[in-house]
Amino acid sequence: MQFNAIIEPFRVKTVEPIRHTTREQRLAAIRRAGYNPFLLKAEDVLIDLLTDSGTGAMSSRQWAGMMLGDESYAGARSFYKFEAAVKKITGFKHVMPTHQGRAAERILFGSALKPGDIVPNNTHFDTTRANVEYRGAIGLDIPIPEAHQPRVYHPFKGNVDLEKLERALAENPGKIPMVMVTVTNNSGGGQPVSMANIRAVSEIAHSHGAPFFIDACRFAENSWFIKMREEGYADKSPMEIAQEMFSYADGATMSAKKDGLANIGGFLAMNDDELAMKCKNMEILGEGFPTYGGLAGYDLEAIAVGLEEALDPDYLRYRIRSIEYLGERMKEDGIPFIEPTGGHAVYIDARAMLPHIPWNEYPGWALSLALYIEGGIRSAEIGTVMFGRQPDGSEKPADMDLVRMAFPRRMYTQSHVDYLAEVLGYIREISPRIRGVRMVEEPPVLRHFTARFEPAHGEILAEA
Ligand SMILES: *Cc1c(COP(=O)(O)O)cnc(C)c1O
Repeated sequence: MQFNAIIEPFRVKTVEPIRHTTREQRLAAIRRAGYNPFLLKAEDVLIDLLTDSGTGAMSSRQWAGMMLGDESYAGARSFYKFEAAVKKITGFKHVMPTHQGRAAERILFGSALKPGDIVPNNTHFDTTRANVEYRGAIGLDIPIPEAHQPRVYHPFKGNVDLEKLERALAENPGKIPMVMVTVTNNSGGGQPVSMANIRAVSEIAHSHGAPFFIDACRFAENSWFIKMREEGYADKSPMEIAQEMFSYADGATMSAKKDGLANIGGFLAMNDDELAMKCKNMEILGEGFPTYGGLAGYDLEAIAVGLEEALDPDYLRYRIRSIEYLGERMKEDGIPFIEPTGGHAVYIDARAMLPHIPWNEYPGWALSLALYIEGGIRSAEIGTVMFGRQPDGSEKPADMDLVRMAFPRRMYTQSHVDYLAEVLGYIREISPRIRGVRMVEEPPVLRHFTARFEPAHGEILAEA
């Protein structure tokens, strides 16, 4: 008998209370925060879906591992455990721990890029793009066309457009020092990349003499999608699939705050001896000695265990299925979102849901405020507030106005997801009454983090 209920493949050993608040309390809190969810106190949030980065719950094995942390400056036992865990999955020869994913990016690009270079990727994550551009190089996003069509189903919407990759390499000889692929494609909706696409990218890059690096933050979730959706992989374990993915690559950058199931950490790994030597020197300048890389010994222990736990089929089934289930409930209620649901998040199409709010009153932002005020849910606008300001000071609508609900790992349960579905259904009912906002204080860069807003028409929710 096949049972349908999703159960969490763990039981609870330590609990952290979350706090119910009244609508009045939430209205007061969001006013104090300048109508910016980033400026809320976390304790005023009931369900926090701001990000899946570093927010997950560690296992008893990870906490036990932390007690074994060897804090020796060089050559600590914990490093060798960490290195063995990374090598088992990736097979790469050189493994450098870093304090986050972006540190791995800074070290890699600082060692391998020069001004005018081009790095193709399905979609650069924002820190990846920023680190490429900081070197005076260009980040070229070339996902398949379906990546931009929210309601079109494609099993691997994170795939790279191979023709565009071939053309970029042919037209820019000597200017592409590496090709990257981000698994899953975070900025493109947490969408997976197929094994066939990874293999093809690797062959194309290598035929032009360019090394191939994987931005591996969600390698375990990507492996699960390959197992579920790609022919020939149903009987392989997520570990075997991950090993095959990395076998096509020459190196990887990783944020252990994602599929490392840790609260902090990351790594840079590669096969090339000469590049690794350069990177190790850069690492010493900015992160620390290459056997601790800005982390405590106990962090290395937590990541070593986390990387393996992230590949547990029961865990991956529960994780991907919970998010898919929320998508199904949203579809029943007529809530538009990027389909199919991704590995770590659901992206609501706020522009489609709130067509009466003009782009310059920020429909995504308004929707995220309504989710907080009505249900205590914190989400993140990925739209015109985040991307609308142009270098010349003008403003234009972003490609899409989305609201991302990103799921911390192993933190919330089925009943939390049912609650989310209920709140979202209610928000759908009252959506014609949701009003836009105007920005009253705007910082010069990365404005979404600290900007302050006011309702453009009295209140966020107009009287019935
Ligand atoms: C989070 C993330 C990074 C950066 O990692 P940090 O640990 O936040 O520095 C890079 N790439 C992708 C795809 C990410 O999701």
